[in-house]
Amino acid sequence: MTGQVVVVQHPLVQHKLTLMRRKERSTAGFRQLMREIGTLLCYEVTRDLPLTTERIATPLAEMDAPILAGKKLCFVPILRAGQGMLDGMLDLVPSARVGHIGLYRDPVTVQPVEYYLKMPQDLAERLVVVVDPMLATGNSLAAAVTRLKQLGAVSIKVACLLAAPEGVARFHGEHPDVDLYTAAIDSHLDAHSYIVPGLGDAGDRLYGTK
Ligand code: URA
Repeated sequence: MTGQVVVVQHPLVQHKLTLMRRKERSTAGFRQLMREIGTLLCYEVTRDLPLTTERIATPLAEMDAPILAGKKLCFVPILRAGQGMLDGMLDLVPSARVGHIGLYRDPVTVQPVEYYLKMPQDLAERLVVVVDPMLATGNSLAAAVTRLKQLGAVSIKVACLLAAPEGVARFHGEHPDVDLYTAAIDSHLDAHSYIVPGLGDAGDRLYGTK
């Protein structure tokens, strides 16, 4: 089974992504746009959540009204840039749990090393949405998903802002069961593993650290 890659073509997503890419965008503007795209991507990621019906009374009549069938969510931003999309996702699903994972790239082995992990107990009962704005090499995202599976997660999706073809191939090579949602798939990675044309370093642009 190969996971789906869903490129979210909604005009608002595409427009906001273009605004973010522009190098003159302010830190505050970049942060606000990433939050807004987080909300819009969350809408797509949750599109097939199961529904049931509940008997309710409106002021005029009783009816069987659609309501979420109880599939609970857990958002897992990969630190630190994943935080930028999180609040926009929580705007839409305020009751979701949030787990955090921090990974850095070992300068010698270039492999991802976990430095922080805090997850809710019941991952197996939740749809886990991993949030990683920039899918570049795919190494840290693949490592994060491997870790979540070890912790019991069985239903996992990924929300990212931008992906490189190399990262999509690498990620789906290791996790063919996980669907990816992204606003765009760009051209390629450069020699420093930045996405081209991309938008630069998402963490630095989000927090003004460069
Ligand atoms: N991480 C980023 O923030 N930007 C890239 O282009 C690649 C990885």
